[in-house]
Amino acid sequence: MDIALSCPQCGAEVDLEEDSLVFHCQFCNTTLKPTGRNQVQSFFFEPKGGLSEIAPALLRAIQKKGISSPKILDSHLVYAPYWRVKGLLFQWAFGKIYKFSTMGGQSFDYFKKLRSVPYHRTFPAFESKRFGLFSLGLRVQAMKMRPYNREKMGLDALLLEQTVDLKEAVQTALKTPTQVVNQPRSKVDFLHTGLIGEGYSLIYFPFFCFSIRLGPKEELVVVDGLSHKVIKGELPLEEISRHTESRQLPYQPLDFIPFQCPNCGWDLPYQPHARVHLCTTCKRAWQEMGGEFQEMEYKISPSATRGSQSIYLPFWRLQVAIHTKEGSISTQEEFFQLFPQYRVSKGPDTKGIYFYVPAFRIRNPVAVDKLAASMTRVQPSIPVSEPEDFEVERAADAWLPLGEAMEMAHLLLYSMTPKRAKRTLTMVKDARVKLISKELLWLPFQEQGIFLRQESTDLAIQKNCLQIH
Ligand SMILES: [Zn+2]
Ligand SMILES: [Zn+2]
Repeated sequence: MDIALSCPQCGAEVDLEEDSLVFHCQFCNTTLKPTGRNQVQSFFFEPKGGLSEIAPALLRAIQKKGISSPKILDSHLVYAPYWRVKGLLFQWAFGKIYKFSTMGGQSFDYFKKLRSVPYHRTFPAFESKRFGLFSLGLRVQAMKMRPYNREKMGLDALLLEQTVDLKEAVQTALKTPTQVVNQPRSKVDFLHTGLIGEGYSLIYFPFFCFSIRLGPKEELVVVDGLSHKVIKGELPLEEISRHTESRQLPYQPLDFIPFQCPNCGWDLPYQPHARVHLCTTCKRAWQEMGGEFQEMEYKISPSATRGSQSIYLPFWRLQVAIHTKEGSISTQEEFFQLFPQYRVSKGPDTKGIYFYVPAFRIRNPVAVDKLAASMTRVQPSIPVSEPEDFEVERAADAWLPLGEAMEMAHLLLYSMTPKRAKRTLTMVKDARVKLISKELLWLPFQEQGIFLRQESTDLAIQKNCLQIH
């Protein structure tokens, strides 16, 4: 779903991709940073046609049904708010799968499965119990949304009140309509669903509403503002009048700031999918927050291979404590009791626990999850330094914000739990991951054919599982 905008520089009508974090105008060549894209923003869809065009067609349709001389008493353009959620859905399932042997007996094996799919949904953000249009459906994928603008929406248009807040929207989004894991003859014992990297927008959808006298009756007819179909169900119009006068922006407006390093003034490199922008001149890192760039600290792990052509991938290294019902786990020794593995015993280890969460853009969630889980399971010691001589050009885009990285860290608990490890699963089922400290790190990977191999851990991932820029 693209965002239709007028270029702030030349005024041309241009599109900004929904996932784009940098704006570039192909007409005047201006590059700007759109603000507020990390937060909830409000948009609207432009209606097709107007009340005066819809009204005669509606009357003709009613007359065709044999009702004589219907009369329009009142009509309004009404916008109703919908939540739009877009992200990656992760679902871990643990359970048993049953087998029947030829001898007539029944046996089972444990299974563990991760399913991950792109997730996009729209659902009403208003009181919609008696309303027939619960989802805007797939058609909105191909439509352009415009930044919320009361004048462009029409000052006499009415707005339905938003009654579903963001917290409720998140809960609704997580209630997946379908059981994602679908295995015959199986029983799911534990299921955990998470949405990663999701963005929330509030979209105002247009409806034409008519009060019509049909013989002795008066009826409200709602017409979809884009398809012009009559909708079954009632909009809570009695709610409207109290709220139409508020001109306040419901959420963050979409604005623009110069796409330049606030420290040295040079243009930042055009990487439309990076959330963190690295300045090639002074090597500082910037993230837009509240309408301005804020500096982000980061470190790198220097490549041990001289003259190498390493690619640097961004990770969140999160020092965490795992809170379980049986107590808190915060040392590596406790960690390795929870997630046992073959390793040389080094005696009591009081070092902290570090989770490695990829911050790059994910193409293949299952492969990326595997890499993150493998890295975290070994608790590697990775040398870290200040980014003084860092070749910023060799760095992949950082995309995943810290809050989302913490959700991914939670999912890693299940990624690291073997399917037969009943005790571990019982412990992590209701566990919570608490952040102690964080670090954004770029780690060197060597290109080897179709693989990228991490230098300190020797773990590899296929290049096509991620998006470097
Ligand atoms: Zn322009
Ligand atoms: Zn700079």
